[in-house]
Amino acid sequence: MGKNQQAKDLRREMSRIIDLMAKYQVQLPVELIKSPHFEQLRMPFAEKVALFLAPMDRERSEASLREGTRMLHESLNQLLDRAPEKISFEDRPEPIKLACQLGCNHCCTLRVALKAPEVILLANALRKRLSPEEMAALKDRIEKFELDLSTKSLIERAYRSVLCPLNVDSLCIAYLHRPINCSSYHSFSLQACLDDMADPAAGNVVPTDPYRRMLQAMHGQALECGLMALGLDHDDLELVPALRIALADPDAGAKYLRGEPVFAEANQPELREALDREFESRPMTQIPVKG
Ligand code: SF4
Repeated sequence: MGKNQQAKDLRREMSRIIDLMAKYQVQLPVELIKSPHFEQLRMPFAEKVALFLAPMDRERSEASLREGTRMLHESLNQLLDRAPEKISFEDRPEPIKLACQLGCNHCCTLRVALKAPEVILLANALRKRLSPEEMAALKDRIEKFELDLSTKSLIERAYRSVLCPLNVDSLCIAYLHRPINCSSYHSFSLQACLDDMADPAAGNVVPTDPYRRMLQAMHGQALECGLMALGLDHDDLELVPALRIALADPDAGAKYLRGEPVFAEANQPELREALDREFESRPMTQIPVKG
């Protein structure tokens, strides 16, 4: 393809994104507007919002909601795959390598927050993929998880320390459709993860990459902005109760689109508030939660 054609295609794509943002009157997040990198980030951010909105713009349906969410997840995963695996930290003499490995599941004991379309996508994928026996086993694990959690204090529930029911034999059975907060969670020190797991309230520093955190924030906020623009609920939900609801009710997605409070039970602001109080004096790099 010639350079002229490339430039023409780029202009057409940019104008499609700008039109979509204008049509839905998308409000940019305050954090982005205040960022010193606003000019560089504005268009990539709009591109992510448009990625989510485009299928819903063609047809407002549950399938479109899942498609837009899937595309946003794929975009994040592709960028994370290309992110540097080794980075330098100010307090360390040598660059260090990402500690995350296949089969390492320490962070799968942390609390996971997600948005409703993410759990709708996840439940749909699990319904298609799991055998009736596997689905029954998952529902048993969900029940056990919720029972274990119900015996814990508010702050323990906010940290969580119970293995996610989607983790089987140290692997995520929903890996391709895991929430944004799961795919972007990472660590540059296994020991820091272990220390943190042993005593979540101790304030251990889990070293993380600001670039990966920026990608997480960008995709998470793009999803939130897209939902706001569509007039849909955009509150954070707790993964496990939301998944229980979505698996039990095949119409949960349709109800959500109609504005029914189908996931109300999974919206637990008291956990977020407990964490906010806990982390008031701790920098972002120390926050050991997936959400
Ligand atoms: S959804 Fe998957 S990656 Fe996320 S906590 Fe559960 S098992 Fe881990």
